[in-house]
Amino acid sequence: MEIKLYNALTRRKEIFEPADQDVTKVYACGPTVYNTVSIGNFRTFLFSDLLVRTLEYNGQSVRYVMNITDVGHLVSDGDDGEDKLEVGAAREGKTAWEVAQEYTDQFLLDADRLHLRRPDELPRATDHIEEQINMIQELEKKGFTYATSDGIYFDTSKLDNYGELAGQKVEDKEEGARVEVNKEKKNASDFALWKFSPSDEKRQMEWESPWGIGFPGWHIECTAMSTKYLGNLYDIHTGGMDLKMVHHPNEIAQSEGALGTTEARFWMHAEFLQVDGGKMSKSLGNAYNVDDFIEKGIDPLAFRYLTLTAHYRSHLNFTWASLEAAQSALKKLRMIVREWDTPAIGCADYERRFEGAVNDDLDTPQAVAIVWELVHDATQQTSAKAQSLLKFDAVLGLGLLDYIARQLIVPEEVQKLVDERAVARDTKDWEEGDRLRDEAKKLGYVIEDTPDGQRVTEE
Ligand code: AMP
Ligand code: ZN
Repeated sequence: MEIKLYNALTRRKEIFEPADQDVTKVYACGPTVYNTVSIGNFRTFLFSDLLVRTLEYNGQSVRYVMNITDVGHLVSDGDDGEDKLEVGAAREGKTAWEVAQEYTDQFLLDADRLHLRRPDELPRATDHIEEQINMIQELEKKGFTYATSDGIYFDTSKLDNYGELAGQKVEDKEEGARVEVNKEKKNASDFALWKFSPSDEKRQMEWESPWGIGFPGWHIECTAMSTKYLGNLYDIHTGGMDLKMVHHPNEIAQSEGALGTTEARFWMHAEFLQVDGGKMSKSLGNAYNVDDFIEKGIDPLAFRYLTLTAHYRSHLNFTWASLEAAQSALKKLRMIVREWDTPAIGCADYERRFEGAVNDDLDTPQAVAIVWELVHDATQQTSAKAQSLLKFDAVLGLGLLDYIARQLIVPEEVQKLVDERAVARDTKDWEEGDRLRDEAKKLGYVIEDTPDGQRVTEE
């Protein structure tokens, strides 16, 4: 079945085929590891993961690369202000190198908890300084750069189609830029390729270069590393919606300048996650992370489920109530599939429809609706439903293999309460029965009375 994806470069849904049938090449802009990765960032990474899983579901072999930004991402988009890593180091009284390692480890742990497929490569910017310098030299050779007192800049007016991705022309940006931070820049949209270390202070992260001691600008790492691992024109590049306006147009400019390509054929963006209908930010104290879920006793996969209920190109409004509703739905799904027979031949019709949904620009709200329709379809054998749902879970990533046709194993202490309650029921001691039920609830188990006796499920 054909796959359609929305390509921001052409502003329409297009049929997607990998350039090379043997391997589909996908690059995702990864986290800046100066702080705990927030659930906003994870919405974008879950979208990339969904894309990769969908391509794999279609039988493609995907080479998936995600960078780790551990230098050069400044606090402001205008090539100004401090490096986020140095800010993190000052905040924590550690070195920038320690901070980068700490938050990379935390990111990978959280990514596992959310069932994100591990990228095949996770290149760090600081391990690829040479590649970045080489690319800047190439741009210099081709006349795309100029020097100012604080760095080497890319001259965006040298490209006819700069900013096409963002739908912005160099002149438009010029008019819009009321506050020009760097007077030496020729055009407001020009951006730093290499920044010189300040003469009065020593940076923790700095390197020798043909232009002097300094560090790379944020955008060059993605072009240098993605093309190193995936070639000069790879299939798909992903990121969050904010990157569509500055970071990605700048990547394309670098690639057009140095390599003569748009870097990737498809550019895709996840819409932002909002919290309580507004902006998510560290300063508002609502930039939640996966540890916050665990502290509240919420399964991180409930968040994964929540993201599937919205299309990746729509805003996703996060509230604790919506997360709890997602957790209930997921628990209900797990409870139902426990009772099913072991997987046998699947339901072809549902499988076709599911594939149709995800192949239509990753329409997960539709895919989730199809899952529930299948679950509630009494005309299908549960063994067939089990087989289909397992297939679907390769895309959904909810870990349903652990639940389908697997009886709940109740811990001994809960079983003891159930046994005691059976006695209480026999003697019609309802009060004691209720007390035992409450005890079980505290341990996360729900006891229900059915005509066949007590039924225990996870809360
Ligand atoms: P950063 O760690 O800032 O480099 O961002 C990592 C990724 O998260 C980028 O692709 C951003 O576009 C994305 N991102 C940042 N904030 C949000 C948000 N609130 N919702 C969705 N994606 C976001
Ligand atoms: Zn990037």
